[in-house]
Amino acid sequence: MDNGNTALFLLEFTPAMSFESLGLSSNVQQAMFDAGYTAPTPVQNKVIPMALKGRDLLVAAQTGTGKTAAFIGPMLDLIGAAATPAANCTRGLVLVPTRELAMQVHQSVKDYGCHSGLRSAVVFGGVKINPQMMALRKGVHLLVATPGRLLDLYEQHAVRFEELKMLVLDEADRMLGLGFSDEMNRILSILPRRRQTLMLSATLSTEVKKLAGKMLHKPVEIEVNPERVAAVKVAQWLVPVDKKRKTDLLNHLISENGGLQALVFINTKQGADRLVKEINSSGHTVSAIHGDKSQAVRLRNLQAFKNGEVQILVATDVASRGLDIGQLPQVINFELPKVAEDYVHRIGRTGRAADSGQAISLVCADEFEYLRNIERLLRQVLPREYVDDFEPNHPNRRVFRLPRNQRGLRNQKL
Ligand code: AMP
Repeated sequence: MDNGNTALFLLEFTPAMSFESLGLSSNVQQAMFDAGYTAPTPVQNKVIPMALKGRDLLVAAQTGTGKTAAFIGPMLDLIGAAATPAANCTRGLVLVPTRELAMQVHQSVKDYGCHSGLRSAVVFGGVKINPQMMALRKGVHLLVATPGRLLDLYEQHAVRFEELKMLVLDEADRMLGLGFSDEMNRILSILPRRRQTLMLSATLSTEVKKLAGKMLHKPVEIEVNPERVAAVKVAQWLVPVDKKRKTDLLNHLISENGGLQALVFINTKQGADRLVKEINSSGHTVSAIHGDKSQAVRLRNLQAFKNGEVQILVATDVASRGLDIGQLPQVINFELPKVAEDYVHRIGRTGRAADSGQAISLVCADEFEYLRNIERLLRQVLPREYVDDFEPNHPNRRVFRLPRNQRGLRNQKL
């Protein structure tokens, strides 16, 4: 992560997309949420809708951009779990240059496909071929392979391609750099011509484009600027606390966090103004954006926050959405939102520009209903993290039902 906080607070004036708006199935969306992703990365924004339309794609994207999820998500949906593959057949094929990448990509297939009910396998050289033949016997929806071993298996009639719908070539430039062009040509000659093909490469060299010319049919070219891309996860947890102690706890967390800036969400305009006064009197610098403030004032306050002149920005949901703040390392929910989806929007504000982001919710006993709805939407129980001296006197067992097993998270510094 960058050392200076200010660099992280770039404003994005393009609307933040959601996985839902990209057209992915609820199964794949759920798997992305399970993985801790709150919003698609730029390459996912561009690749997923085009791939779902059935187009061939030539994508210039490097590792770390979220490119793997960008092709596996649509692949899972397009291949679907409905039809069982015939013996030894594969419906989707991902070709990668190395065994390490093969294992990594296959792990992503399992992760993103955990709710999709597909069969998958991975094959690569340097290990016994028999277990791989066994894994292919009943047929698979999705196969991840290195080229040499795939051809060996084909020659031994362990894999067949007549049901193949989709081919992905990942890291095409490395594939060519490692001298796999003969294998690639041979593989292309045995695959069905009617198929959808996606090709990904860190660079689009002349050789890569030549290969693309042979493999792709009227491809859409997609390029993402590596500087603008950050694929990150958001650590989320909640701190149980009594309502009247929330402001003190907020001040405590901010002091403890070594001056890290925070976007603090609250539900009402009046609440936001009150909180600003209370934080001010504790010595932290703070400003607010909410619906009663003019657009000019909101922009000025945002700018001050972005420049690092102000440590805390208090915001209501509507005001912050209108201004579309992006790329923050830390979001604090002073109150849980009444609408569960707003929670996802709020935490989607963090993490995108950093190696990781954190979203902390201060939750009192009254907020159980909201919490339950949020956890239902996420299909996940948020970790509870007690803070010394702020343990609630009015515990609501349903809010605070988890054991105190999450210590340490609080100390996770960015
Ligand atoms: P890749 O470019 O596919 O190697 O992905 C790099 C990292 O980004 C992996 O650790 C993924 O888990 C992570 N990642 C992928 N998509 C997202 C996303 N939408 N939000 C946050 N992290 C992501």
